Amino acid sequence: MSVVKIHDREFVKSISREEIAAQVKRVAEMINMDYAGKRPLLLGVLNGCFMFLSDLMKELEIECEVSFVKLSSYQGSETTGTVNQVMGLNESIDGRDVIIVEDIVDTGLTMHKMLQTLAESKPASLAIASLFLKPARLRVPVEVKYSAFEIPDRFIVGYGLDYDGLGRNLPDVYDVKE
Ligand code: 5GP
Repeated sequence: MSVVKIHDREFVKSISREEIAAQVKRVAEMINMDYAGKRPLLLGVLNGCFMFLSDLMKELEIECEVSFVKLSSYQGSETTGTVNQVMGLNESIDGRDVIIVEDIVDTGLTMHKMLQTLAESKPASLAIASLFLKPARLRVPVEVKYSAFEIPDRFIVGYGLDYDGLGRNLPDVYDVKE
């Protein structure tokens, strides 16, 4: 069993790079079929998506484009709490088939807000491709059309996901050790 220490916590390897590659390929095959004859825009959500997006795109055989957005959190009013703003979307998505590429959907709040914001720009279609989904944690209904892995409620790092800035470079995925 492989264990890594990041900051103050220990993490145990849970998903190998080979398993990730196989699931990313499976997701790409679905996208290749579903978007045949179209030219989707892959919209990566930084920072966590970068490894997934890179590997996913290499498996796509359809024409596709890529762009990135970042979500900045700021404190809204007392009633709205923390609000996520979508930053960096410079091109028009009007009439485009957009696939949001995310590292992990946890409570779903981030994607819920993102779908609402992007829908205002009138894309032809909007879908979510997420490397990980924690179904037990979902607090709002969000349709994740393409998810590589459904995982239990545990904090993970590696393959682009961090723990307080570190661990993104790990090629495998690790679960926090309780
Ligand atoms: P949501 O809005 O769905 O609750 O949050 C999604 C974001 O929370 C992800 O993009 C990611 O940044 C962070 N997150 C949620 N669960 C995990 C996890 O297990 N590990 C890491 N590294 N980040 C997580």
